[in-house]
Amino acid sequence: MKFLLEFLRQKTPKPGADMPAYFRKALAVNEKVLAVYFLCCFALVGFSARRWEWAPVAFFAVTVLCLLNGKSMNVRFSAASYALINVLWCVWFNVYLGWTYSGHLLLLPVVMLIFFNIYDPPWFKILACVALFCLRMALFYRSLYIVPLYHLGQGAGILLQTINSVTLFAMLALDAILFSSSIQDTERKLRLDNQELHKEADTDPLTQLPNRRAMIDTIERFQKTSPSEPFSVAIADIDFFKKVNDTYGHNCGDYTLKTLSDLFLRAAGTNYSVCRWGGEEFCFFLPGKNIDEAWNVMFDVCNAVRKMRLHFEEHEFSITITVGIEENDYRSSMEEILNQADKKLYLGKISGRDRVVM
Ligand code: GH3
Ligand code: MG
Ligand code: MG
Repeated sequence: MKFLLEFLRQKTPKPGADMPAYFRKALAVNEKVLAVYFLCCFALVGFSARRWEWAPVAFFAVTVLCLLNGKSMNVRFSAASYALINVLWCVWFNVYLGWTYSGHLLLLPVVMLIFFNIYDPPWFKILACVALFCLRMALFYRSLYIVPLYHLGQGAGILLQTINSVTLFAMLALDAILFSSSIQDTERKLRLDNQELHKEADTDPLTQLPNRRAMIDTIERFQKTSPSEPFSVAIADIDFFKKVNDTYGHNCGDYTLKTLSDLFLRAAGTNYSVCRWGGEEFCFFLPGKNIDEAWNVMFDVCNAVRKMRLHFEEHEFSITITVGIEENDYRSSMEEILNQADKKLYLGKISGRDRVVM
Protein backbone atom coordinates (compact mmCIF):
# COMPACT_ATOMS: atom_id res chain seq x y z
CA MET A 1 0.00 0.00 0.00
CA LYS A 2 3.08 2.23 0.19
CA PHE A 3 2.84 2.86 -3.55
CA LEU A 4 -0.68 4.24 -3.07
CA LEU A 5 0.55 6.72 -0.44
CA GLU A 6 3.36 7.72 -2.77
CA PHE A 7 0.84 8.19 -5.59
CA LEU A 8 -1.33 10.42 -3.38
CA ARG A 9 1.70 12.54 -2.43
CA GLN A 10 2.75 13.00 -6.08
CA LYS A 11 3.52 16.59 -7.03
CA THR A 12 1.92 17.75 -10.29
CA PRO A 13 3.86 19.93 -12.73
CA LYS A 14 2.15 23.01 -14.11
CA PRO A 15 0.42 22.09 -17.38
CA GLY A 16 2.30 23.38 -20.38
CA ALA A 17 2.24 22.94 -24.12
CA ASP A 18 4.95 20.32 -23.79
CA MET A 19 2.64 17.41 -23.04
CA PRO A 20 4.62 14.18 -23.30
CA ALA A 21 4.59 12.94 -26.90
CA TYR A 22 3.43 9.47 -25.89
CA PHE A 23 0.25 10.90 -24.37
CA ARG A 24 -0.67 12.87 -27.47
CA LYS A 25 0.10 9.81 -29.57
CA ALA A 26 -2.05 7.55 -27.39
CA LEU A 27 -4.94 10.00 -27.76
CA ALA A 28 -4.57 10.02 -31.55
CA VAL A 29 -4.33 6.22 -31.75
CA ASN A 30 -7.41 5.78 -29.55
CA GLU A 31 -9.35 8.26 -31.66
CA LYS A 32 -8.41 6.43 -34.86
CA VAL A 33 -9.61 3.11 -33.42
CA LEU A 34 -12.78 4.84 -32.18
CA ALA A 35 -13.50 6.35 -35.61
CA VAL A 36 -13.35 2.92 -37.28
CA TYR A 37 -15.41 1.47 -34.46
CA PHE A 38 -18.21 4.04 -34.88
CA LEU A 39 -18.42 3.30 -38.61
CA CYS A 40 -18.67 -0.44 -37.89
CA CYS A 41 -21.44 0.21 -35.36
CA PHE A 42 -23.28 2.39 -37.86
CA ALA A 43 -23.18 -0.32 -40.52
CA LEU A 44 -24.06 -3.11 -38.11
CA VAL A 45 -27.02 -1.39 -36.49
CA GLY A 46 -28.25 -0.22 -39.91
CA PHE A 47 -28.15 -3.64 -41.51
CA SER A 48 -29.44 -5.51 -38.50
CA ALA A 49 -32.22 -3.26 -37.20
CA ARG A 50 -33.11 -2.16 -40.75
CA ARG A 51 -32.97 1.38 -39.55
CA TRP A 52 -30.18 3.79 -40.30
CA GLU A 53 -29.22 5.34 -37.06
CA TRP A 54 -27.12 8.47 -37.55
CA ALA A 55 -25.79 8.88 -34.02
CA PRO A 56 -22.71 6.66 -34.68
CA VAL A 57 -22.00 8.81 -37.75
CA ALA A 58 -22.18 11.94 -35.60
CA PHE A 59 -19.79 10.32 -33.11
CA PHE A 60 -17.53 9.38 -36.02
CA ALA A 61 -17.57 12.98 -37.34
CA VAL A 62 -16.73 14.52 -33.95
CA THR A 63 -13.94 11.99 -33.40
CA VAL A 64 -12.40 12.70 -36.81
CA LEU A 65 -12.67 16.43 -36.07
CA CYS A 66 -10.78 15.93 -32.79
CA LEU A 67 -8.24 13.78 -34.58
CA LEU A 68 -7.61 16.35 -37.32
CA ASN A 69 -7.31 19.23 -34.84
CA GLY A 70 -5.39 17.15 -32.30
CA LYS A 71 -2.04 18.72 -33.08
CA SER A 72 -3.23 22.32 -32.84
CA MET A 73 -5.57 21.73 -29.92
CA ASN A 74 -4.55 22.13 -26.30
CA VAL A 75 -3.83 18.58 -25.32
CA ARG A 76 -5.88 18.75 -22.12
CA PHE A 77 -8.88 19.91 -24.15
CA SER A 78 -8.14 17.10 -26.57
CA ALA A 79 -8.12 14.54 -23.74
CA ALA A 80 -11.33 15.98 -22.29
CA SER A 81 -13.04 15.75 -25.71
CA TYR A 82 -11.92 12.16 -26.08
CA ALA A 83 -13.27 11.29 -22.63
CA LEU A 84 -16.56 13.07 -23.37
CA ILE A 85 -17.02 11.22 -26.68
CA ASN A 86 -16.54 7.89 -24.88
CA VAL A 87 -18.87 8.79 -22.04
CA LEU A 88 -21.65 10.02 -24.35
CA TRP A 89 -21.22 6.99 -26.55
CA CYS A 90 -21.60 4.63 -23.59
CA VAL A 91 -24.79 6.41 -22.54
CA TRP A 92 -26.16 6.33 -26.10
CA PHE A 93 -25.23 2.70 -26.46
CA ASN A 94 -26.96 1.79 -23.21
CA VAL A 95 -30.15 3.64 -24.10
CA TYR A 96 -30.38 2.29 -27.64
CA LEU A 97 -28.72 -1.12 -27.47
CA GLY A 98 -28.72 -2.04 -23.79
CA TRP A 99 -26.13 -3.59 -21.52
CA THR A 100 -25.65 -7.01 -23.13
CA TYR A 101 -23.28 -5.96 -25.89
CA SER A 102 -20.80 -4.27 -23.52
CA GLY A 103 -20.68 -0.76 -24.97
CA HIS A 104 -19.79 0.43 -21.44
CA LEU A 105 -16.37 -1.24 -21.76
CA LEU A 106 -15.13 1.80 -23.68
CA LEU A 107 -14.95 3.65 -20.36
CA LEU A 108 -11.86 1.62 -19.45
CA PRO A 109 -9.37 3.23 -21.91
CA VAL A 110 -10.52 6.60 -20.53
CA VAL A 111 -9.55 5.49 -17.02
CA MET A 112 -6.15 4.43 -18.36
CA LEU A 113 -5.53 7.76 -20.11
CA ILE A 114 -6.57 9.72 -17.03
CA PHE A 115 -3.97 7.95 -14.91
CA PHE A 116 -1.22 8.53 -17.45
CA ASN A 117 -1.79 12.27 -17.63
CA ILE A 118 1.11 13.73 -15.65
CA TYR A 119 -0.51 17.15 -15.32
CA ASP A 120 -3.59 16.07 -13.36
CA PRO A 121 -3.29 15.87 -9.58
CA PRO A 122 -3.93 12.50 -7.84
CA TRP A 123 -7.22 13.63 -6.31
CA PHE A 124 -8.59 14.53 -9.75
CA LYS A 125 -7.59 11.16 -11.17
CA ILE A 126 -9.28 9.28 -8.33
CA LEU A 127 -12.39 11.48 -8.60
CA ALA A 128 -12.60 10.93 -12.37
CA CYS A 129 -12.15 7.19 -11.89
CA VAL A 130 -14.92 7.05 -9.27
CA ALA A 131 -17.21 9.14 -11.52
CA LEU A 132 -16.68 6.75 -14.44
CA PHE A 133 -17.30 3.79 -12.15
CA CYS A 134 -20.56 5.37 -10.92
CA LEU A 135 -21.63 6.03 -14.51
CA ARG A 136 -20.99 2.39 -15.42
CA MET A 137 -22.99 1.15 -12.43
CA ALA A 138 -25.82 3.61 -13.16
CA LEU A 139 -25.99 2.32 -16.74
CA PHE A 140 -26.09 -1.23 -15.43
CA TYR A 141 -28.92 -0.56 -12.95
CA ARG A 142 -30.81 1.35 -15.61
CA SER A 143 -30.57 -1.54 -18.02
CA LEU A 144 -32.16 -3.84 -15.42
CA TYR A 145 -35.40 -1.91 -15.54
CA ILE A 146 -35.56 -0.21 -18.92
CA VAL A 147 -35.45 -2.13 -22.18
CA PRO A 148 -33.27 -0.75 -24.97
CA LEU A 149 -34.84 1.02 -27.92
CA TYR A 150 -33.39 -1.38 -30.52
CA HIS A 151 -33.46 -5.08 -30.49
CA LEU A 152 -30.66 -6.72 -32.49
CA GLY A 153 -30.89 -10.22 -33.88
CA GLN A 154 -28.67 -12.91 -32.36
CA GLY A 155 -26.08 -12.77 -35.16
CA ALA A 156 -25.79 -8.97 -35.04
CA GLY A 157 -25.62 -9.12 -31.23
CA ILE A 158 -22.72 -11.53 -31.33
CA LEU A 159 -20.98 -9.38 -33.93
CA LEU A 160 -21.48 -6.21 -31.89
CA GLN A 161 -20.16 -7.87 -28.73
CA THR A 162 -17.14 -9.01 -30.76
CA ILE A 163 -16.54 -5.54 -32.21
CA ASN A 164 -16.75 -3.97 -28.75
CA SER A 165 -14.32 -6.48 -27.27
CA VAL A 166 -11.86 -6.15 -30.15
CA THR A 167 -11.99 -2.35 -29.88
CA LEU A 168 -11.41 -2.42 -26.13
CA PHE A 169 -8.50 -4.85 -26.32
CA ALA A 170 -6.94 -3.01 -29.26
CA MET A 171 -7.10 0.32 -27.41
CA LEU A 172 -5.73 -1.08 -24.16
CA ALA A 173 -2.94 -2.98 -25.93
CA LEU A 174 -1.92 0.04 -28.05
CA ASP A 175 -2.00 2.36 -25.03
CA ALA A 176 0.04 -0.13 -23.01
CA ILE A 177 2.63 -0.38 -25.79
CA LEU A 178 2.92 3.40 -26.07
CA PHE A 179 3.06 4.05 -22.34
CA SER A 180 5.40 1.21 -21.44
CA SER A 181 7.84 1.92 -24.27
CA SER A 182 7.93 5.59 -23.30
CA ILE A 183 8.70 4.66 -19.69
CA GLN A 184 11.41 2.26 -20.86
CA ASP A 185 12.85 4.93 -23.18
CA THR A 186 13.01 7.42 -20.34
CA GLU A 187 14.61 4.87 -18.06
CA ARG A 188 17.15 3.89 -20.72
CA LYS A 189 18.05 7.52 -21.37
CA LEU A 190 18.38 8.24 -17.67
CA ARG A 191 20.69 5.27 -17.16
CA LEU A 192 22.83 6.23 -20.15
CA ASP A 193 23.09 9.83 -18.91
CA ASN A 194 23.99 8.55 -15.44
CA GLN A 195 26.68 6.29 -16.85
CA GLU A 196 28.06 9.20 -18.86
CA LEU A 197 28.07 11.43 -15.76
CA HIS A 198 29.79 8.73 -13.70
CA LYS A 199 32.40 8.30 -16.41
CA GLU A 200 33.01 12.04 -16.58
CA ALA A 201 33.28 12.28 -12.80
CA ASP A 202 35.82 9.43 -12.76
CA THR A 203 37.96 10.57 -15.70
CA ASP A 204 40.80 13.04 -15.87
CA PRO A 205 39.88 15.44 -18.70
CA LEU A 206 43.45 15.97 -20.00
CA THR A 207 44.74 12.40 -20.20
CA GLN A 208 41.39 10.56 -20.22
CA LEU A 209 42.85 8.26 -17.56
CA PRO A 210 40.77 7.42 -14.48
CA ASN A 211 41.27 10.01 -11.74
CA ARG A 212 42.28 9.57 -8.10
CA ARG A 213 38.68 8.96 -6.96
CA ALA A 214 38.17 6.18 -9.51
CA MET A 215 41.47 4.54 -8.52
CA ILE A 216 40.58 4.55 -4.82
CA ASP A 217 37.23 2.94 -5.75
CA THR A 218 39.04 0.26 -7.77
CA ILE A 219 41.43 -0.60 -4.93
CA GLU A 220 38.63 -0.62 -2.33
CA ARG A 221 36.51 -2.88 -4.54
CA PHE A 222 39.44 -5.27 -4.92
CA GLN A 223 40.05 -5.31 -1.17
CA LYS A 224 36.39 -6.15 -0.59
CA THR A 225 36.06 -8.86 -3.22
CA SER A 226 39.53 -10.48 -2.79
CA PRO A 227 40.58 -9.72 0.79
CA SER A 228 43.27 -12.43 0.86
CA GLU A 229 44.80 -11.62 -2.55
CA PRO A 230 48.11 -9.71 -2.60
CA PHE A 231 48.40 -6.43 -4.44
CA SER A 232 50.90 -3.63 -4.86
CA VAL A 233 50.60 0.06 -5.60
CA ALA A 234 53.15 2.26 -7.33
CA ILE A 235 53.39 6.02 -7.59
CA ALA A 236 55.30 7.44 -10.55
CA ASP A 237 56.41 11.05 -10.95
CA ILE A 238 57.94 12.66 -14.03
CA ASP A 239 61.52 13.81 -13.42
CA PHE A 240 62.22 17.52 -13.88
CA PHE A 241 58.84 18.06 -15.48
CA LYS A 242 58.93 21.72 -14.57
CA LYS A 243 61.86 22.03 -16.95
CA VAL A 244 59.75 20.64 -19.84
CA ASN A 245 57.13 23.33 -19.16
CA ASP A 246 59.71 26.06 -18.74
CA THR A 247 61.73 25.08 -21.84
CA TYR A 248 59.02 24.16 -24.37
CA GLY A 249 55.90 25.76 -22.90
CA HIS A 250 52.84 24.56 -21.00
CA ASN A 251 51.20 23.04 -24.11
CA CYS A 252 54.22 20.84 -24.56
CA GLY A 253 53.87 19.79 -20.90
CA ASP A 254 50.24 18.82 -21.58
CA TYR A 255 51.27 16.91 -24.68
CA THR A 256 53.89 15.06 -22.64
CA LEU A 257 51.33 14.05 -20.02
CA LYS A 258 48.97 12.76 -22.73
CA THR A 259 51.69 10.84 -24.59
CA LEU A 260 52.96 9.31 -21.37
CA SER A 261 49.41 8.26 -20.40
CA ASP A 262 49.02 6.54 -23.79
CA LEU A 263 52.25 4.65 -23.20
CA PHE A 264 51.10 3.58 -19.72
CA LEU A 265 47.84 2.28 -21.17
CA ARG A 266 49.54 0.46 -24.05
CA ALA A 267 51.94 -1.26 -21.66
CA ALA A 268 49.30 -2.17 -19.07
CA GLY A 269 47.97 -5.50 -20.36
CA THR A 270 46.50 -7.28 -17.34
CA ASN A 271 49.38 -6.19 -15.09
CA TYR A 272 47.98 -2.98 -13.71
CA SER A 273 45.44 -0.23 -13.92
CA VAL A 274 46.74 3.32 -13.91
CA CYS A 275 45.29 6.69 -13.00
CA ARG A 276 46.40 10.29 -13.01
CA TRP A 277 47.04 10.86 -9.33
CA GLY A 278 47.41 14.62 -9.78
CA GLY A 279 49.80 17.03 -11.56
CA GLU A 280 52.56 14.94 -13.14
CA GLU A 281 52.05 11.98 -10.82
CA PHE A 282 50.46 8.66 -11.75
CA CYS A 283 49.28 5.83 -9.53
CA PHE A 284 49.47 2.17 -10.57
CA PHE A 285 47.43 -0.59 -9.00
CA LEU A 286 48.87 -4.06 -9.54
CA PRO A 287 46.34 -6.66 -8.40
CA GLY A 288 47.65 -10.12 -7.50
CA LYS A 289 51.30 -8.91 -7.63
CA ASN A 290 53.72 -9.02 -4.72
CA ILE A 291 56.39 -6.32 -4.49
CA ASP A 292 59.00 -8.24 -6.54
CA GLU A 293 56.56 -8.92 -9.39
CA ALA A 294 55.40 -5.32 -9.25
CA TRP A 295 59.00 -4.10 -9.37
CA ASN A 296 59.61 -6.10 -12.60
CA VAL A 297 56.50 -4.64 -14.23
CA MET A 298 57.37 -1.08 -13.22
CA PHE A 299 61.01 -1.53 -14.22
CA ASP A 300 59.84 -2.36 -17.78
CA VAL A 301 57.53 0.66 -17.77
CA CYS A 302 60.39 2.87 -16.57
CA ASN A 303 62.63 1.59 -19.41
CA ALA A 304 59.91 2.13 -21.99
CA VAL A 305 59.46 5.75 -20.83
CA ARG A 306 63.20 6.41 -21.07
CA LYS A 307 63.28 5.05 -24.63
CA MET A 308 60.23 7.03 -25.79
CA ARG A 309 61.05 9.98 -28.08
CA LEU A 310 58.67 12.92 -27.79
CA HIS A 311 58.10 15.32 -30.68
CA PHE A 312 56.48 18.65 -30.06
CA GLU A 313 56.59 21.33 -32.79
CA GLU A 314 60.27 21.45 -33.79
CA HIS A 315 61.46 19.97 -30.48
CA GLU A 316 62.49 16.41 -29.84
CA PHE A 317 63.17 15.24 -26.31
CA SER A 318 62.74 12.40 -23.86
CA ILE A 319 61.72 12.09 -20.21
CA THR A 320 62.24 9.75 -17.30
CA ILE A 321 60.12 8.79 -14.33
CA THR A 322 60.83 7.79 -10.76
CA VAL A 323 58.62 5.16 -9.12
CA GLY A 324 57.96 4.12 -5.52
CA ILE A 325 56.30 0.75 -4.85
CA GLU A 326 54.58 -0.70 -1.79
CA GLU A 327 52.87 -4.04 -1.27
CA ASN A 328 49.71 -4.62 0.72
CA ASP A 329 50.66 -5.99 4.15
CA TYR A 330 47.04 -6.75 5.19
CA ARG A 331 47.49 -4.51 8.25
CA SER A 332 47.92 -0.99 6.96
CA SER A 333 45.13 1.15 5.60
CA MET A 334 45.12 2.05 1.93
CA GLU A 335 46.23 5.58 2.87
CA GLU A 336 49.24 4.18 4.77
CA ILE A 337 50.22 1.92 1.84
CA LEU A 338 50.03 4.85 -0.57
CA ASN A 339 52.07 7.01 1.84
CA GLN A 340 54.74 4.34 1.94
CA ALA A 341 54.86 4.23 -1.88
CA ASP A 342 55.17 8.03 -1.88
CA LYS A 343 58.07 7.92 0.61
CA LYS A 344 59.91 5.44 -1.63
CA LEU A 345 59.29 7.70 -4.59
CA TYR A 346 60.93 10.51 -2.62
CA LEU A 347 63.88 8.20 -1.86
CA GLY A 348 64.17 7.51 -5.59
CA LYS A 349 64.21 11.24 -6.30
CA ILE A 350 66.97 12.03 -3.83
CA SER A 351 69.05 9.05 -4.91
CA GLY A 352 69.24 10.19 -8.54
CA ARG A 353 65.78 9.71 -10.22
CA ASP A 354 64.90 7.46 -13.21
CA ARG A 355 64.53 4.36 -11.05
CA VAL A 356 62.06 2.09 -9.30
CA VAL A 357 62.32 1.88 -5.51
CA MET A 358 60.77 -0.89 -3.44
P1 GH3 B 1 61.00 16.34 -9.82
O1 GH3 B 1 61.94 15.53 -10.63
O2 GH3 B 1 61.52 16.61 -8.45
O3 GH3 B 1 59.63 15.71 -9.76
O4 GH3 B 1 60.88 17.72 -10.51
P2 GH3 B 1 59.63 18.33 -11.20
O5 GH3 B 1 60.05 19.53 -11.96
O6 GH3 B 1 58.90 17.31 -11.96
O7 GH3 B 1 58.74 18.70 -9.94
P3 GH3 B 1 57.91 19.93 -9.55
O8 GH3 B 1 56.95 19.47 -8.51
O9 GH3 B 1 58.82 21.09 -9.18
O10 GH3 B 1 57.13 20.34 -10.84
C1 GH3 B 1 56.00 19.72 -11.27
C2 GH3 B 1 55.45 20.54 -12.39
O11 GH3 B 1 54.38 19.88 -13.02
C3 GH3 B 1 54.96 21.87 -11.96
C4 GH3 B 1 53.65 22.04 -12.69
O12 GH3 B 1 53.61 23.25 -13.41
C5 GH3 B 1 53.62 20.90 -13.64
N1 GH3 B 1 52.29 20.44 -13.91
C6 GH3 B 1 51.42 19.87 -13.06
N2 GH3 B 1 50.28 19.60 -13.69
C7 GH3 B 1 50.43 19.99 -14.99
C8 GH3 B 1 49.57 19.96 -16.15
O13 GH3 B 1 48.43 19.53 -16.12
N3 GH3 B 1 50.07 20.44 -17.32
C9 GH3 B 1 51.34 20.94 -17.39
N4 GH3 B 1 51.77 21.36 -18.56
N5 GH3 B 1 52.13 21.01 -16.32
C10 GH3 B 1 51.71 20.52 -15.13
MG1 MG C 1 55.43 15.87 -8.50
MG1 MG D 1 58.15 15.59 -11.04
